[in-house]
Order: sequence, then C-alpha cells, then structure tokens
Amino acid sequence: MSQTTYRRLQHELKAIESDGLYKRERLITSPQSGEIRVSRNGRERTIVNLCANNYLGLADHPEIIAAAKAAMDEYGYGMASVRFICGTLDLHRKLERRIAEYLETDDAILFAAAFDANGGVFEPLLTAEDAIISDSLNHASIIDGIRLCKARRYRFENNNMTHLEAQLERAAAEAPRSIVIATDGVFSMDGTIANIPQLRQLADRFDALLLVDDCHATGILGPQGKGTAAHFGLSADIITGTLGKSLGGAAGGFVAAAQPVIDMLRQRSRPYLFSNALPPMLAGGALKAIELARAGDDLRAKLHGHAQHFRQGLQQAGFRLLEGEHPIIPVMLDEAQLAQDLANRLYERGVYVTGFFYPVVPKGQARIRVQMSAALTFEQLDQAIAAFTRAGRELGLIP
Ligand SMILES: *Cc1c(COP(=O)(O)O)cnc(C)c1O
Repeated sequence: MSQTTYRRLQHELKAIESDGLYKRERLITSPQSGEIRVSRNGRERTIVNLCANNYLGLADHPEIIAAAKAAMDEYGYGMASVRFICGTLDLHRKLERRIAEYLETDDAILFAAAFDANGGVFEPLLTAEDAIISDSLNHASIIDGIRLCKARRYRFENNNMTHLEAQLERAAAEAPRSIVIATDGVFSMDGTIANIPQLRQLADRFDALLLVDDCHATGILGPQGKGTAAHFGLSADIITGTLGKSLGGAAGGFVAAAQPVIDMLRQRSRPYLFSNALPPMLAGGALKAIELARAGDDLRAKLHGHAQHFRQGLQQAGFRLLEGEHPIIPVMLDEAQLAQDLANRLYERGVYVTGFFYPVVPKGQARIRVQMSAALTFEQLDQAIAAFTRAGRELGLIP
C-alpha cells in the first residue's frame, strides 16, 4: 500500500547523500570524555574527542555517577507519571530550588530536555495579543516554541541591535500587551556571545521580557558559571537551560524565571503537563553537577585556556576561524563535502570532530565546530592541532 511513500523517502535520502549532507553516526563504546573509544567496521580505536558539549568534563565524573546511583537506590528507576499526577519527588523540587538559587531567579521548572523547555515556554505566556522578537540564529527549539505560540512574530538579524530596535518599534506600534525578546546566550554554531548589555537596555526601554537560552553558557560563562547575562554583570528575565551539556551531560532541561512565569508554566506548559517526570537518577546527578560547576573555577580556567591555545594553533596553521572567546571554535570550510572530508581524515588521524552543514547551518557555510573541554589535556590539543595541519594540507586548505 504505502510502497510509493517508501520509494519517495528512499529517493529523497539518495538526494541528501549525493548532496554530501548525509549524517552517519559513529558508535562510541566508552564513557564520554577527552578521549573516547570508537568502533567502526568492527574495529575499535581510542581518539581525542573535540565535539562533545562536555565543557567542564563532568560527563564521567565519579561524584556525579555516585550521586545518580544513590538517587536511583533511594527513589527507584522511574516515576511512571507526569509531574502533576503522581510524579513529583522532593528531589525534583530540591533541584528546581537549587537551579533558581544558582541562576538567581525566584523559581525554576524542569523539563525532559531544553528542547521541551523552549518548546513549552512561549505558548502558556503569550497569545495573539502579544509579540515575540527572535534572533535569526536562535536554536531550532526556540523557533519551534515560537511556532507553537500565537503571538505576533518578528525576527532580527543575528545579534544586530539596530535591527532589533527597529523590530521592537514595529512591534510596539501594534500595542501588544507583552513583548518577549528571545535570544541564545551563546549561538551554538558560531560561539558568538549575545550582546546582553544592549539586549537588556532595549528590553527595559520597550518594557519587554528578555529570554536567554543559556544551554552553551551555564557553567561556562560568568562568575560561578551563572551564564551569559551574569558574564556582563546583568540579568535575564527568563533563562532556559539544559542539564545535557556542561551540567553533567546527561539529559533534562529547565526554565528559571520570576514566580508568576514558573507558576503559569506549571499550569499550562504542554511538554511539562504531558510528558514524564525526570528520572530520579538524573535529578540526583544534576544536583551534584551544579555543585561541581559552581565551584569549578579551576575547570573554567582550564577550559578557556584550552580554547585560547587551540584557536592560536589553528590560526597559525592558516585555518579560517570565526572570531570569539567561547570554547566553541568554528573552522570554516563553506562546502559540506569538504567539511565531511576533513572530518574523515581527522578521524583517521585519531581526532573526532563532526562536519556541520545544512540544515544545521545555512547552505554554503559548512564548518567543523570544534569544542573544548576541561577533560582534554594540552598534549591532546597539540596532537589535534598537528592532525588538523596535516589533514588541512592534504586537502589543500592551508599552505
Ligand atoms: C543543546 C541546545 C538545546 C537543546 O538541549 P537539550 O537539553 O539537549 O534538548 C537548546 N538550545 C540550545 C541553544 C542548545 O544548544
């Protein structure tokens, strides 16, 4: 019956492949860390990992593993319920309170993922009488969350404050009840840090709420890793974040904000109401991860030192990088196939990176996004720089 559908999908998949856009997953057989074991064609090898969001190196931290195990021993494997029916543990509330205290907001609410947090944050707060102004490079989950909400939508060019101001004026002319400005704190494909000082100023001038998705900033930027706004000595009104990156790397997301916002999300946010409670082990592990991240000035110093060292090494070799100070280091290659080829050659030389291309980044802006981690050593970084240099020469990318 549905053979025509299957045939069409096969045809489309072939087109994706012939455009060099097909993504293949490698099988990792070790914990996530600076070095990982990877299996390909039945052959296992240990390679340096430069593409995890494991910024602070906490993904295999023994204290987090112990805390997760202890939570599982105490509370079991899962809750078999959404939060509001019979799924809320004291542990969930403890974690929500801890996140709020860390990020200096009234309260916080947990989601299964930051994807769900962003997917469920707009619709309960805003209707057709309101407006959302969104950065053009915001994460896919913010874009989806905005699509699910009836508020009027305005888009501003990435981190372009003049354009944001113009869009705010357009929005204000329609006299909306509420305005939300939504931005990533750090743009995940570029490593650019959002211009929070001007975002804050414009938000205040237009009586708008500033929502910052801090998935790539919590634990990394600002005092104690409090995030992008804290990095500038300022605050956001709504922070969305993940437990799946620097805070232990497992899974889970959250929104941290003022009490009425969190209370409304608990009443109305669909991914919260209609999806299972976070497993106890994730809540227990995350509590420990936040403790370690807050106290992790040494880890942050190491991470940022690594970023500087690696940027310098690749720049000296002649690679074209996007400027920045974040541990996300994009090596620009423009063409998808080139990004794939370089990634494959680096793999053969013991360095794990992934090519990023359409639809994850705009067409013609393919790149390898290198990410630093406190789990890496300087020896591994130098090994990786040498591998980049040799592979880059082979492909004629650098002199
Ligand atoms: C990773 C990421 C997300 C999604 O986080 P999950 O918890 O993995 O769903 C959302 N927004 C941004 C900016 C991200 O980088």
